Amino acid sequence: MAHRFLARPTDSKGESVPIRSLKDLPIAGRRVFCRVDFNVPLDGTTVTDDTRIRAALPTIEHILEEGGRLVLASHLGRPKGKRVPELSLEPAAQRLAELLGVGEVVLTDDCVGDGARKVVGDLRDGQVALLENLRFHPGEKANDEAFAKQLAAYADVYVNDAFGAAHRAHASVNALPKMIGLRGAGLLLEKELAALDKLRGEVQRPYVAVLGGAKVSDKIGVIEALLSRVNALVIGGAMANTFLAAQGRSLGASLVEDEKLALARSVIAKAEEKGVDLLLPTDLRVGESLEDTSAEVVGLDGVGGAQMALDIGPETEKVYADRVRKGGTVFWNGPMGLFENPAFAHGTTAVAEAMATCPGFTVVGGGDSVAAIQQAGLASRYDHVSTGGGASLEYMEGKKLPGVEALL
Ligand code: ADP
Ligand code: MG
Repeated sequence: MAHRFLARPTDSKGESVPIRSLKDLPIAGRRVFCRVDFNVPLDGTTVTDDTRIRAALPTIEHILEEGGRLVLASHLGRPKGKRVPELSLEPAAQRLAELLGVGEVVLTDDCVGDGARKVVGDLRDGQVALLENLRFHPGEKANDEAFAKQLAAYADVYVNDAFGAAHRAHASVNALPKMIGLRGAGLLLEKELAALDKLRGEVQRPYVAVLGGAKVSDKIGVIEALLSRVNALVIGGAMANTFLAAQGRSLGASLVEDEKLALARSVIAKAEEKGVDLLLPTDLRVGESLEDTSAEVVGLDGVGGAQMALDIGPETEKVYADRVRKGGTVFWNGPMGLFENPAFAHGTTAVAEAMATCPGFTVVGGGDSVAAIQQAGLASRYDHVSTGGGASLEYMEGKKLPGVEALL
């Protein structure tokens, strides 16, 4: 099935419908509206992590090299439909200019209106401008047609390269592309979908999923979907506490979702029914506060009343790392402990390192998990590091992403 398009969702007859790739869109001399995810962390007016801007560079450079007149658009933070000066995209525009090696990337005063129209109208082939924060207008989150129409006025071609926003039915990713005939997926979006599609298709086995993080409730959808696909489900983080509590363990002052105990028990039962190895911690590292540095190692019955389980223990770590290293396919979402405190980062680091040396196909998603592997300097050692936490989970659940569907 060699094609240059992405064979993605299916139509009503169950046929595979292609989405155009950026490489198949006519760019030269055209105004290209490209939705990117420049929702970057800021410290005042400084971008503290430019990963998302870098991730969009291949698409941006391709469009400029092909002689497109590039109009970039993004959201930043949660301005709630109003102009919030602290959430201006100015720092992102500056960082992009540095990365592109150009003196300046013009930022419009607003994403719609006369100012933006003039900037876009003045663009010449191979030039770029960035629209101000889309979420300064309530129409963006409301998926408003009239707002989308104003944006559509700038675009001969529409490209979505904002995987991190693809699970939202917002105007710039959903209503807008439907208004433009020449539309397609940017290189980042294409890469993200290709990696996750590989996980959703025939995988090399054993297929090991490692799930952690704060809450079972955030990830129950993906847990249930993975139970039908994986050979082993490895659970860590605060999420593991809820599973251990469901088995009757006392976890002291640990983060446990009491209202999810029945759900955890049903996951344990389903895993058994489906022959999935469900791995839970056999030892833990505990502390009396989030700042604690003692990180005492205890067995499952050793968590004191005032203590919190904040990381998996060394014995668990070895078992988890071994599973991960032997995986034919490994998907990881959610840290194994309170990794922000180095005393409780051992489990997360062990999984991250095991995955880096695993010869199988390895994918990691999730904002905090990705931050942890970047902190460990391991990001380049995985087959794919997703830029979209929520979007990657929804896609793994088998849900349709509004930003992808709109490109059909
Ligand atoms: P991701 O962003 O990778 O999807 P989550 O947002 O679900 O991950 O969870 C990450 C958070 O969970 C981190 O802030 C981490 O400190 C916290 N966490 C993990 N394990 C524990 C634990 N045992 N107790 C308290 N917090 C934990
Ligand atoms: Mg998170």
